[in-house]
Amino acid sequence: MNLRKIVIAIDGYSACGKSTTAKEVAAILGFRYIDTGAMYRAVTLYFIDHHVALTNPKEVNRALQQINISFKVTKNNTSETFLNGLNVEKDIRKMRVSENVSQVSTLKEVRVAMVEQQRRMGKEKGVVMDGRDIGTVVFPQAELKLFMTADMLVRAFRRQRELLDRNQLVDLDDVMDNILQRDKIDTTRTESPLRKADDAIVIDTTHISIDEQVDEVIRLALSHMMVIR
Ligand code: C5P
Repeated sequence: MNLRKIVIAIDGYSACGKSTTAKEVAAILGFRYIDTGAMYRAVTLYFIDHHVALTNPKEVNRALQQINISFKVTKNNTSETFLNGLNVEKDIRKMRVSENVSQVSTLKEVRVAMVEQQRRMGKEKGVVMDGRDIGTVVFPQAELKLFMTADMLVRAFRRQRELLDRNQLVDLDDVMDNILQRDKIDTTRTESPLRKADDAIVIDTTHISIDEQVDEVIRLALSHMMVIR
């Protein structure tokens, strides 16, 4: 019996545990983890710092041509985000980016550029990619598609704890407002709105631990990876 490389697409609302699960699953399977949210966050950071007018497509396109996003595995064995050669992993998680990223992600020019790069990154398969449009737009042919959900309050608590781990103390109300606002923009935008792909499997993470989420995804992945000769 052989194991083949597949594409695992994980979509869902903000702060449902997508990245934590995706990262661990990728490590266990020896796959590459691609955090597409980090790519939209890096674009947003650049746009904020360079005062790019979102209403001006020419300016947006010009800015996109100046942007190079890459991921590197750092000393502590985690994949971190680089923008034009600089490690921006910490900066892109700050509230000033979280508050603007969904607006930036509505722009067609931005999506076209990101999707092109994501398809290139996943071409050889053996990837776990998480985001909002992976199973619907980026890899509609992905062998395994998951859609993660969780209760609002649980998501807000988890995100607040994550921010605290990065030394950012944010009010629970503010965390919740940001999640709600991003969900709203992400699900109602014209370009590639967040929605469950018809063939995606729903995983509700409200009452399950990270280990249980990972076990479930590994079980599903293996059933798609097994090739019986
Ligand atoms: O995954 P994360 O919460 O870091 O994503 C940040 C934002 O990036 C999302 O709220 C969404 O607006 C945008 N995004 C997107 N498409 C993706 C991944 C993220 O529009 N594939």
